[in-house]
Amino acid sequence: MPPLTRFAPAPTGYLHLGHVVNALHVWGLARARGGRVLLRIEDHDRQRCRPDYEAALLDDLDWLGVVPDVFPTSAFRAGRCDGRQSDRHAHYARAVETLAARGLVYACACTRREIEAATSGAPDAGELRYPGTCRHRGLPLTDGVGWRLTLPDDTVTFDDLAHGPTTQTPSAQCGDLLLRDRLGNWTYQLAVVVDDLLHGIDLVVRGDDLFASTGRQILLARLLGRESPPAFFHHGLVMQTSTQKLSKSDGASGVRDLRAAGWTPARVLGHAAHLGGLIPTPRDLAIADVLDLFAR
Ligand SMILES: [Zn+2]
Repeated sequence: MPPLTRFAPAPTGYLHLGHVVNALHVWGLARARGGRVLLRIEDHDRQRCRPDYEAALLDDLDWLGVVPDVFPTSAFRAGRCDGRQSDRHAHYARAVETLAARGLVYACACTRREIEAATSGAPDAGELRYPGTCRHRGLPLTDGVGWRLTLPDDTVTFDDLAHGPTTQTPSAQCGDLLLRDRLGNWTYQLAVVVDDLLHGIDLVVRGDDLFASTGRQILLARLLGRESPPAFFHHGLVMQTSTQKLSKSDGASGVRDLRAAGWTPARVLGHAAHLGGLIPTPRDLAIADVLDLFAR
């Protein structure tokens, strides 16, 4: 079956070269497998996302010539698509209801500072692990508190298409997952798992910053009834040194700023392909040329 994957930026800022590197991998791997790309706007965080950033993201994608197969930019502008997370409240609420009905959701009144204090001196300092403080307190699921998922102790194995066979134990990495924050926002982890399930996404292509989240997302999807998880491909992030070099010579790494500085779409795409390790030196590339890099 040809895969369905997604490009899923959060409108918390303008499109930057890191997004473009991800887009090249998403479209490239989809096309190489005869698959399709769905556009999702990940604006679950109402405090940080802005409509003008979304409008700019859509405009920059059009300018680059990167065209989604499902939920094209025109559908977002016309308000005729199901790819914007802020429109999908009912789906997230229903998913959490099914988990709560099985006794898997509890209220957590801990502040971040309290969690940090409770976990100080923990052996793995890489990630903040929620120690389960409120798991048995029986607090009501109301506004003003976080809602957490009782995470099973399972170890998850998956075969990442870039990293190879991988084992993760979410209960040891992050502890019970936050599903809704105290401000009433559905969290990234919940929204993305529900969306991938309901949109039928079976190939997830994203940066290494989300590699550690994969096991917990597979566990949550399983609890929501997903029988087989999507395939995952985690690519390297744009190197800090490269962006610093770019910043020095061109003033910015935002697509908006590069456009204003006279860059063409081909120059931006070629530069991103270089930053993403797809070509050894930057050169102008049309989107079709980039996709050819993955076909070989
Ligand atoms: Zn708590």
